[in-house]
Amino acid sequence: MAHVEPAAVSPAALADRLAHLRDVLAPQIEVVRENEPLAPYTTFKIGGPADLFVEAHSADELALAVTTAREHDVPLFLLGLGANILVGDKGFRGVVIRNRAAHVETRGDGRLWAESGTVVWERLIEESVTAGLSGLEHYAGIPSSVGGALWQNLHFLSPDRSRTMFIEEVVESAELLMEDGSRQTVDRDWFAFGYDYSTLHDRPEVIVLAATFALEPLSRETLRQRIEANLQWRGERHPPLDTEPSAGSIFKKIDGVGAGRLADWCGLKGTRIGGAEVTQRHANILINRDSATARDVRHLIGYVQETVEREQGYRLSTEIGMIGDFGDLGDLPARGWENEDGFTDGVPPGGHPEAHASAERR
Ligand SMILES: Cc1cc2nc3c(=O)[nH]c(=O)nc-3n(C[C@H](O)[C@H](O)[C@H](O)COP(=O)(O)OP(=O)(O)OC[C@H]3O[C@@H](n4cnc5c(N)ncnc54)[C@H](O)[C@@H]3O)c2cc1C
Repeated sequence: MAHVEPAAVSPAALADRLAHLRDVLAPQIEVVRENEPLAPYTTFKIGGPADLFVEAHSADELALAVTTAREHDVPLFLLGLGANILVGDKGFRGVVIRNRAAHVETRGDGRLWAESGTVVWERLIEESVTAGLSGLEHYAGIPSSVGGALWQNLHFLSPDRSRTMFIEEVVESAELLMEDGSRQTVDRDWFAFGYDYSTLHDRPEVIVLAATFALEPLSRETLRQRIEANLQWRGERHPPLDTEPSAGSIFKKIDGVGAGRLADWCGLKGTRIGGAEVTQRHANILINRDSATARDVRHLIGYVQETVEREQGYRLSTEIGMIGDFGDLGDLPARGWENEDGFTDGVPPGGHPEAHASAERR
């Protein structure tokens, strides 16, 4: 993840560095706030405050905020639309930079150039429809920034539903801010895209500033039909984000079986811990039913993992990023949950007494 943790510093030293960073950025960038709650900036609507919160409204501002934060040696997390993360209840110690750089240009020969904070649905897709260009309409209805889409290789089914389509198919090049602060334009191959993967996972200090998409001409009518079909497909299967906040699919896909199907076979739909619930619509989606905490979600994730492993023999691993400080999670085992990049993985051995005690099936 675009998430950098310098060597550990004392809270007092970190506070000092953040105060300096605020003083340097405040005259140059419009939104620089302290103790800003992160929940409103995520689709899960969960998460405590960031020590420092900065909004970048152009690629130049984004590069400035990131390089200045690095110079001050403070932990940094780059936030797109917050659609693929769970933020801890205690928030984030360091600076969160929210990417709102959203300039888009049509560049001839079917090319669309967009800054990395551009929202794919609806802004970028609408731009492609206006230009009569195909390749992005498959991702209608999915909450994502351009940067998040490249980070994860955004994907959805083809119009005839016969295969999975990936955003890599239309990525031509991207402008990156590298680890050493230089800007480089790279082509699609640099990303080594895979399923839910790009090189960005392994190079957490590299930031996407902008991307160029190479698209094919298609009639606006056909593009609109595809978009409508995709929105309808989602509406029938997925919980609506405005009333049932979520982070989309929680668990990575398991080839040939499906993580959601496994959880469904275990009768987990409707299972609830605190305010978090496995939605009745899709057993791979957890929703914030009622003022859920990140702790509720972590315990529900553990409960689902443990139940599926016990009853079906598969180990589910999470695909969302876990960001910041989760505080005391109670009886969750310390090992088996987090990879070195901060993402959870695997089923904790030994089970979750607390989850068993409080999980209620509906
Ligand atoms: C209701 C719902 C439905 C969904 N359906 C789908 C689906 O059908 N297909 C699918 O593939 N996904 C789906 N998702 C998941 C999500 O939409 C994607 O993962 C999306 O790409 C996340 O983008 P984001 O801008 O929200 O990234 P964030 O969640 O903000 O960030 C995710 C990661 O990307 C990194 N990142 C963000 N911007 C940049 C950048 N400019 N440079 C470098 N790193 C960056 C962040 O640091 C973080 O590590 C769904 C999610 C929801 C909530």
